[in-house]
Amino acid sequence: MFEHTLDLIYLLSAVMFIVGIKMLSSPETAARGNFISALAMILAVGITIATGDIKDFTWIAVGIGVGAVIGIFASQMVQMTSMPEMVALYNGLGGAASALVATSEYMRQQSGLAPFLLVVILLSLFVGALTLTGSLVAFAKLKELVSGKPTIFMGQHLLNLVLILGAIGLGGYMSILEPMRFEYFLGIAGIALVLGILVVIPIGGADMPVVIALLNSYSGIAVSFTGFVLSNNALIIVGSLVGASGLFLTNEMCVAMNRSIWNVLFGGFGADAPSGGAATPAGVPEGIVKPYSIEDAINVLESAQSVIIIPGYGMAASQAQHQVRELSDLLEKNGVQVRFAIHPVAGRMPGHMNVLLAESNVSYDLLLDMDEINDDFRNTDVSIVIGANDVVNPAANDDPSSPIYGMPVLNVEQTRTVMVLKRSMNPGFAGIDNALFLKDNTMMLFGDAKATLSKLAEGLKQ
Ligand code: NAP
Repeated sequence: MFEHTLDLIYLLSAVMFIVGIKMLSSPETAARGNFISALAMILAVGITIATGDIKDFTWIAVGIGVGAVIGIFASQMVQMTSMPEMVALYNGLGGAASALVATSEYMRQQSGLAPFLLVVILLSLFVGALTLTGSLVAFAKLKELVSGKPTIFMGQHLLNLVLILGAIGLGGYMSILEPMRFEYFLGIAGIALVLGILVVIPIGGADMPVVIALLNSYSGIAVSFTGFVLSNNALIIVGSLVGASGLFLTNEMCVAMNRSIWNVLFGGFGADAPSGGAATPAGVPEGIVKPYSIEDAINVLESAQSVIIIPGYGMAASQAQHQVRELSDLLEKNGVQVRFAIHPVAGRMPGHMNVLLAESNVSYDLLLDMDEINDDFRNTDVSIVIGANDVVNPAANDDPSSPIYGMPVLNVEQTRTVMVLKRSMNPGFAGIDNALFLKDNTMMLFGDAKATLSKLAEGLKQ
């Protein structure tokens, strides 16, 4: 009877997780979705603690206390642009937790282990440890604590293969012959920790958000194995949900960049080009850069009927979302049709632009996905590109030698006039130049996006 009640509550929290994740897909419902998922987590953890065979709550209380303080502190302090780093750390900690639970369960066994239990303990250990070090390397690359460039050496893939086979060999030996060989257990943990580093170092900084989505999926898979270790249905379900949604997200990001997951993991993208957003002097494509004044830009905007705003990473970096909203309101007041074109990988994390524009209360109806708006650029008077670069680079459409060739981009160059707000001719995250900035119909407005937008708004008010 009691077990059934426990399972029912776990089932309820699993349903709440699914509903919560579903609600994250729209900015209108995302906050509520997050709240429902948090509630489901409290329910699942609470019922596990309350009904578990726990003699002493001291360490649990300490863990909850320390975790809550760090969580509250981090959520207040972290900048929106640093969110991928924070997610990388969370993934790593999730992996570490799974590996530690697997270790303690292994050590708790006095006399042998059933083969199934041993296998899931080893899988939980392996995936958890790999996720830990992989996530730490991803964090270090994004934070630029280490170079964002891919680290590639001869025999790298062969070494990875040997390590994987080594881990399988040790695991197989333990499962069939000697389960209680702790030195083999440690050997598998060591291999997984090294492998986590080796699989992430050949991936460039620009691809780190994709890797983080993948590692997020791994952390879910590790949690799911831990659920089998502890015979806990909630962990199995939640781990599978995280594992599956992480895989979907990874796939969506790859599709948005027209890359396969294999190309991301093994392609060494960015090995020859600067990556990780490092501002480097650009070897500019042929053409003349045409800087314009604020007055020129105001004149163009005053005679426009239709405007599409394209936000990118630079809007986030300069925190210009409120000024973007102000400009949009002023244009609408002047009778201009204003819409926003949102590229799926604009910024540094999925949904980055939506979150920032929601923060400044831009109406959701004005935010259009790339597919919805890409055909409309040719009938639009002005595109205002605010700190976007790679996602509007025409080389993706017309230069087969470009590393981003084939990536779907916003066709802003088809607009009658393109205004680009950025500080310099420096490239974006992919580290490649952008011929859009040299086109005849492009007006470069150099300067910090927030300052430029404020000046434009001032001018339009007069
Ligand atoms: P981007 O290509 O990285 O370009 C951002 C531009 O913003 C830079 O050229 C920079 O030029 C400008 N900028 C920076 N600070 C600024 C400021 N304060 N004011 C004005 N401009 C500023 O950005 P994007 O077009 O949004 O493209 C995103 C990139 O990230 C893509 O390559 C995408 O593949 C990659 N990525 C994104 C995700 C994701 O989930 N969103 C995941 C994986 C990879 P200046 O320095 O000259 O100002």
